Amino acid sequence: MNDLNVEVTLSDMLDAREKRVTVQREIIERYKGTLISFMLNIPGNIKVFPLSLKAHGEAVKLITKALNRQGISVIYQASDSAKTGCESFFVVKEQPIIVKRLMTDIENSCELGRIFDIDVIDCEGNKISRSDLNITERSCLICDDIGHACSRSRKHPIEELQKKVIEIMENYFAEQFVDNCAACAVRSLLYEVCITPKPGLVDRNNNGSHRDMDIYTFIDSTTALIPYFRDIVLSGIKFRNEKPKAVFEKIRYLGMLAEDCMFTATNNINTHKGLIFSLGIICASAGYLYKNEEAVNTDNILKISREMTLEIDDDFNGITKESARTFGEKLYAAYGITGIRGEAASGFASVKNHGLPMLKSLIEKGYSLNHAGALTLLNLIANVKDTNIIARSSIETLKEVQLLTNNLINERGIENISIDEIMDIDNHFIGKNLSPGGCADLLSVTLMLYFLEN
Ligand SMILES: [Zn+2]
Repeated sequence: MNDLNVEVTLSDMLDAREKRVTVQREIIERYKGTLISFMLNIPGNIKVFPLSLKAHGEAVKLITKALNRQGISVIYQASDSAKTGCESFFVVKEQPIIVKRLMTDIENSCELGRIFDIDVIDCEGNKISRSDLNITERSCLICDDIGHACSRSRKHPIEELQKKVIEIMENYFAEQFVDNCAACAVRSLLYEVCITPKPGLVDRNNNGSHRDMDIYTFIDSTTALIPYFRDIVLSGIKFRNEKPKAVFEKIRYLGMLAEDCMFTATNNINTHKGLIFSLGIICASAGYLYKNEEAVNTDNILKISREMTLEIDDDFNGITKESARTFGEKLYAAYGITGIRGEAASGFASVKNHGLPMLKSLIEKGYSLNHAGALTLLNLIANVKDTNIIARSSIETLKEVQLLTNNLINERGIENISIDEIMDIDNHFIGKNLSPGGCADLLSVTLMLYFLEN
């Protein structure tokens, strides 16, 4: 766009104002209704830049939604962009005073609204003011005085105002992004537990091989993690200037706090420890990419996740059968299995190879998210060395169930496997007291990436 980042002069602004008044008059004469004339209040001599365009678009969305909500019909709408700023016009069939009140509500409803300049003009060309509604004048962005007074007396340096306005816009969109990511994370945990049937795992049919938890334990745990998911995305945003590895070091403590929240919510049952780790990394990576203005897509998220955790499987270096202490270390010493840590350090290779492509192709073919999710889990079980299965049985049993799953997939073709057949596998797993919790976590990660993509 030619108007992007172009400096404007005072005379440009005066010309623009004059032109605007003419346009307003023409629109009113032609459409004979109440006119809403909208601009952003951007201080300084550059009015049009990517962030201001985004904020203008958001305002238009908010105005449109508010009018729709009230059933107010729009008989004319137009937007115009010049180097002096974007302008939008709406003509509506409603009393000006009612429209003004609605627009004031938008201006007051959020921080971003503080930089909206929404004029409401009646069909005679008279501007409705806040005082017509007995609403207090807008306060200054910097101090508590009346905004008009501060701007007339040039109380605050232009640089300070510019900084504040940029901050308001950036924070508004960052909050939106954080909310969306946290919602995707929560949704992926809830979908994962609800997908039914899942061999040996808690689902809507049964508690799988578990005696100490049910679907409600997972709901309790998930809701307890909502603040964690927001905080961890914010950390990715906050530490955008650090190397990914340093970000990971900084978010580890948040992960520990989240584990405390989970154990409190579940009476000390481990429902989501693996996911606090995995989804935490995904969320932080998303925030990091967002703030660095890089595309928040699966490839980039997995790349940053990998960079964050690349060295954590170094923890395994030099571990022998004799020195191994934890279950994870013993698995590594005996079989070279690195579990969820290795998975993260590989950029969630199993999700990339066996999870997401499978889920997406099934959904594209018209499978329900439930059936597609159940089959994706089966595909993960067939391909991933699930440490939870080994923990509850042995490596031999893991090989056995992987062979069984692989044979079924090869013989029947994964797309032909029915819900009833998965139920049979569920009974088999329950009979052997197996629970592929590691694969369930990878299914959640798969769902998270799918939701972020869509
Ligand atoms: Zn002030």
